[in-house]
Amino acid sequence: EAKKEGGSQYRFFSLSLSRAAAERFYAEKSLRCALDDGGVQAHFQPIFDLAEGRVVGAEALARCWCPDAGWVSPARFIPVAEETGLIHEVGAQVLEQACAAFRAWWDAGFPLERVAVNLSPVQLHADSLPARIEGVLARHGLAPQHLELEVTEETLLGDDPAPLQQLATLQGMGIAIALDDFGTGFSSPAYLKRFPASRMKIDRNFISGIDSDPDNQTILRSLLVLADGFGYRVTAEGVETHAEADYLAGLFCQEVQGFLFGHPQSSADFLETLRRLGTTVEH
Ligand code: C2E
Ligand code: MG
Ligand code: MG
Ligand code: MG
Repeated sequence: EAKKEGGSQYRFFSLSLSRAAAERFYAEKSLRCALDDGGVQAHFQPIFDLAEGRVVGAEALARCWCPDAGWVSPARFIPVAEETGLIHEVGAQVLEQACAAFRAWWDAGFPLERVAVNLSPVQLHADSLPARIEGVLARHGLAPQHLELEVTEETLLGDDPAPLQQLATLQGMGIAIALDDFGTGFSSPAYLKRFPASRMKIDRNFISGIDSDPDNQTILRSLLVLADGFGYRVTAEGVETHAEADYLAGLFCQEVQGFLFGHPQSSADFLETLRRLGTTVEH
């Protein structure tokens, strides 16, 4: 009886293993075909300033179109891209599209402050990264300050000092660095001492229900104290309701992102959002 059970458990285990392998195989296949066909697309989510009541920037989020599977989420294909090294090409395509979109919005009369692009720790291992970024900025006529690179604390794991030096180099070029998803994973306040970044993005787990969740309120207040003490600007992620936005405004957490202000959308749709939400900034 026990043997039979053990057998079925083993079968279950190997079945789920092969499903994971198949899933991974298809993710890699669709990613490769998307990269060849221009199917990796940057969508853009507005970053909104509550005090000024305007859109100040956009975050580029990668989307992968696969003829078989439709839109594949970055949560699925970014890990595969990192394992296979395809992340360098994904990152290059997203950066290119982000800079082109930012330029197009300016040319349409919407001079945003910045466009943010996510950067995988794997990308920071490429020595050529700063020069390539400089080339893309120059080609689209963007100043380094117009670009913000979002990195997670994962970047700091391990003993290798190279990724951190690379970040410091990028910051030295004038590019803004943001610490993404702060508070999740391995965060320790001690990271803030040595991280070359000027912005902290607070993960939506801590923002969800912030107007009525005392635990999240406590966490958020302490994160704001830390950010202030170490001189970080703050952006709250995942704002979905007016009640959450009002609570954040009351804490002077004025920069927000979330479905309340806009879902990630194509560059052209983003232009429509700008026309609707407005960004009037004197330059
Ligand atoms: P992230 O950088 O923290 O991006 C925020 C994620 O939260 C996005 O998911 C966005 O669509 C989602 N989001 C924004 N507002 C709300 C909201 O109000 N409610 C909810 N429920 N979700 C919201 P997405 O696009 O699926 O991206 C997931 C993650 O994949 C990103 O997290 C980022 O870590 C990674 N990623 C996306 N694009 C790239 C890329 O080009 N390069 C790299 N290396 N990673 C990327
Ligand atoms: Mg991000
Ligand atoms: Mg984030
Ligand atoms: Mg996140």
